[in-house]
Amino acid sequence: MSFSSKNPAISPVHIIGGGLAGSEAAWQLAKAGVPVLLHEMRPVQPTPAHQTDFLAELVCSNSFRSDDAMSNAVGQLHYEMRRMGSLILGCADQNQVPAGGALAVDRDGFAKAVTQAIANEPLIQIEREEVRDLDQLGSGPVIIATGPLTSPALAQQILALTGEEQLAFFDAIAPIVYRDSIDLNTAWFQSRYDKMGPGGTGADYINCPLDRDQYGAFIDALIAGDKTEFKQWENVPYFDGCLPIEVMAERGRETLRHGPMKPFGLTNPHNPTKKAYAIIQLRQDNALGTLYNMVGFQTKLKHAEQVRIFRTIPGLESAEFARLGGLHRNTFLNSPRVLDPFLRLKSRPQIRFAGQITGCEGYVESAAIGLMAGRMAASEYRGEELRLPPSTTAIGALINHITGGHVETIDAGPSSFQPMNINFGQFPPLADPPLEQDGKRLKGPERGLARKRALTARGKHDLDLWLAPQG
Ligand SMILES: Cc1cc2nc3c(=O)[nH]c(=O)nc-3n(C[C@H](O)[C@H](O)[C@H](O)COP(=O)(O)OP(=O)(O)OC[C@H]3O[C@@H](n4cnc5c(N)ncnc54)[C@H](O)[C@@H]3O)c2cc1C
Repeated sequence: MSFSSKNPAISPVHIIGGGLAGSEAAWQLAKAGVPVLLHEMRPVQPTPAHQTDFLAELVCSNSFRSDDAMSNAVGQLHYEMRRMGSLILGCADQNQVPAGGALAVDRDGFAKAVTQAIANEPLIQIEREEVRDLDQLGSGPVIIATGPLTSPALAQQILALTGEEQLAFFDAIAPIVYRDSIDLNTAWFQSRYDKMGPGGTGADYINCPLDRDQYGAFIDALIAGDKTEFKQWENVPYFDGCLPIEVMAERGRETLRHGPMKPFGLTNPHNPTKKAYAIIQLRQDNALGTLYNMVGFQTKLKHAEQVRIFRTIPGLESAEFARLGGLHRNTFLNSPRVLDPFLRLKSRPQIRFAGQITGCEGYVESAAIGLMAGRMAASEYRGEELRLPPSTTAIGALINHITGGHVETIDAGPSSFQPMNINFGQFPPLADPPLEQDGKRLKGPERGLARKRALTARGKHDLDLWLAPQG
């Protein structure tokens, strides 16, 4: 089948952006029998972070985070997406690499699988072009899924349509190291608390130990290191979930020890009686196991500084870097103000948004919102009733956060809406607290775990009801 914006005989849903959200939305529409014209600007027009012309390229980490669907919110989101036939989760499952309790993927294998599936789908046509002007697409339905690196021309048009003043903030990417350049006489393989996950062994991460003096010197070096400056974005805030390490170091000397350098749940087999003061973890980045990324090490240090400073880490003295960290712009809407609950632009309802640009955060969340945007657009196209997933499901909780679940500031300052990963705080509380078998109230960590399990069980139950055919 062939159709285009210039051929109104078959009018497709236009999707702008073939990233995680756009690819998932296209897939959901096609599976519902709706034709799609997917506009992806790479490789004609690159972004500052993407390196290939694959659809659904992962620009930084290769992890989809926890796959625990019983007691983890993102694990529950995985479950719900698989239940709804997600292309992104399906391709992730096929391209898994070992990563403890996390679902991590061979990044190229994953993106190739998504690209292939979309290319083979007869109802989806791909056009490699930058959409600079929405009017070129006519007046039919459009899904904008252009992500954090939306091209500047389109970002300007979106700003004008929404009447907002700003769409951008900072985001940073972590370095990748060749495994054979890591000294395993100093570093060692182990997952935190020896946790086994899907396809994992309990020893999936490479750990580099620092003693107190080494940690102190490392923090000094990070703070003093030469950084890339982006003066034009001086007033653009960082997103707390993806802070550069040097910014964390500046916030407090112990901050990194309680974040990406925490030493807990790990024992150095080279020196088992000595506890490391801090530990840097590297996670497998490709199926071959030749590349490892420095977990949580987003940075805006200059490249030469990264090489110099990271080679002071025990085990990385001779590290060779396949990719160094960098700093990039992010873009998101003030969604609670400008979108309706069905992700449509209030001022132009034929335009729907999906992915990170809606103000969700993370690969999985972006794909999940793409999945819902695709399903909603399909229902609309087919003249069916639009139904929101219950907010007790992870996907419903996420939409609720984006389109209204946040708290406005009370001091007339700027809106408090910030991108956020899915978390249990976004789920409505349980009507009754979980109890022990004998009816007694649970306490401490047991209560926390029981609560999470009850929330995910409720989500699964409510998703089943929502997905059941309407009678
Ligand atoms: C530098 C960086 C690092 C990140 N690291 C992580 C991480 O480690 N883990 C994580 O979970 N999340 C991370 N994120 C956040 C986010 O989850 C990802 O960016 C995710 O890819 C967002 O999915 P998306 O589909 O919304 O956008 P994308 O996957 O970026 O897809 C958007 C697509 O739209 C295309 N496009 C843009 N403008 C146009 C246009 N005008 N016309 C046509 N096509 C266009 C782009 O080329 C791109 O392919 C990171 C983000 C950035 C910017």
